[in-house]
Amino acid sequence: MPAFDSERIAFEPDRVAIPCAHFIAGRRVEGEGRLPVARPSDGRVYAELPEAGEVGVDEAVSDASRAFRCGDWWRQAPRERGRILRRWADLIEADVDELAKLEALGSSRPVEQARDWDVPYTAEGIRFFAEFADKHGGEVAATAASSLGMQIAEPMGVVAAIAPWNFPLAMTCWKIAPALAAGNSVVLKPSELTPFSAVRLAQLAIRAGMPPGVFNLVQGSGPVTGEALCRHPQIDKVTFTGSTATGRRIMTACAETGPRPVTLELGGKSPQLVFADIPDLDRTARTLARAITGNAGQVCVAGSRLVIERSLLAPMVERLMAEFASLAPGPTWQSGSPFSPIISSVQLDRIAATVGRARDAGAEVLCGGERFSPQQEGGGCFYRPTLLAIGERDNPAIAEEIFGPVLTVQTFENEEEALALAEHEVYGLAAGVHTADLSRALRVVRRLSAGTVWVNRYGRSHDYILPTGGYKCSGIGRDLGRAAFEANLRHKSVLIDI
Ligand code: NAD
Repeated sequence: MPAFDSERIAFEPDRVAIPCAHFIAGRRVEGEGRLPVARPSDGRVYAELPEAGEVGVDEAVSDASRAFRCGDWWRQAPRERGRILRRWADLIEADVDELAKLEALGSSRPVEQARDWDVPYTAEGIRFFAEFADKHGGEVAATAASSLGMQIAEPMGVVAAIAPWNFPLAMTCWKIAPALAAGNSVVLKPSELTPFSAVRLAQLAIRAGMPPGVFNLVQGSGPVTGEALCRHPQIDKVTFTGSTATGRRIMTACAETGPRPVTLELGGKSPQLVFADIPDLDRTARTLARAITGNAGQVCVAGSRLVIERSLLAPMVERLMAEFASLAPGPTWQSGSPFSPIISSVQLDRIAATVGRARDAGAEVLCGGERFSPQQEGGGCFYRPTLLAIGERDNPAIAEEIFGPVLTVQTFENEEEALALAEHEVYGLAAGVHTADLSRALRVVRRLSAGTVWVNRYGRSHDYILPTGGYKCSGIGRDLGRAAFEANLRHKSVLIDI
């Protein structure tokens, strides 16, 4: 990883140049502004987003299809494809300050975190998949002596990528980097809440030498632009990250107009199992607090359900409340990595309403449970880190993904009880296990229904090699790792009489 100096940055939000555009055939395409885009830090509408309907989507998909069928992207030596992708990653890194400001302005990502994590993580993710471009082969099959059989891996064609708003650059990279490395053309639809940093990515791709039409981008809302993209007949695969409800709609669209393959990275409600033998209570408390307050809990794998051995409850709650109290909210453009805003007022209302329903159903609010005062934060969308003690299992705060800084707390007396509480009816994205007993950790890992389990730590850093994805309704298929690259290929069997 490249080293970044630790000089703090902040910026003036009104002086950032916003690329309000689609990106088709290698150039920005301005459209009529339709959708207001607000800054979560202060609620101000700072741009109008053009929205591609069926015609705009058709233009982008047709262009991507032409680039795939007639262009060089996958016909050229795969090593050259890898070289262009690596050059793209270098340009992204060199553009770190501008990209970080653009990312921070309209999202929940504080500018320093965007500069030190999101941008370099995105560049490094592209490099990771660039390495696969020329390092995969097919198979030669054992057939009769008079024939030769082989299986050739080929790109799928045009991949539609639909991204969420919680880590706009990083999630876009998860979607598009493996698809492009495998030789596909891509049409990306960023979230309408965080649409702009991806335009800059597309511009840098062209500068890196990616042929026009290989990476197109259409802006707009899910029901209009997203739906038109998923239903377009020239789309060969859809890769999506977002909520489980939207994932179902996308799968339906792909079934009705295809069937076409999907990769779906969906919601979660991840448990953190804490056993009484943990050696360092303070360290575990910090890990648990970060896992639910990072990005204000707007993380698919947020550790949102604490399942803790009863004897540890009081000291852990005390430490968590202290960790939560130390977080100071502030606009994303401030230096010092303030506690993040909630992405929109709609999402803020949804969090408040769920906590209200949880309380009505018997949850006890141990701390938080309310918005930060808007006067204090200049009108932005901020919610206090919240601890909810849950007696009954049947509570909305347990059943539903809140996607905010809300941690539920349940206690257990033994391992079986812990596992029973950890199991979720709907989700199986991730889990954390905290114990000094390695045998117990492995026993529990084997029985948890989760696509990722962290032991005595929580969250990803820069480990691209391990695939990520969900069990149950948390998803289908995997991002990252070799699995993500291979999910963007299809296989052709060839039999030759010799
Ligand atoms: P969302 O489902 O509301 O939107 C995601 C994207 O889908 C957006 O670009 C949106 O415009 C688009 N969309 C909405 N309706 C559509 C439709 N009918 N057809 C096509 N596209 C449509 O999700 P969000 O609120 O942006 O993101 C938060 C969700 O994403 C959470 O549930 C979170 O858990 C999940 N997430 C999962 C992962 C993972 O790896 N599993 C990672 C990040 C976020």
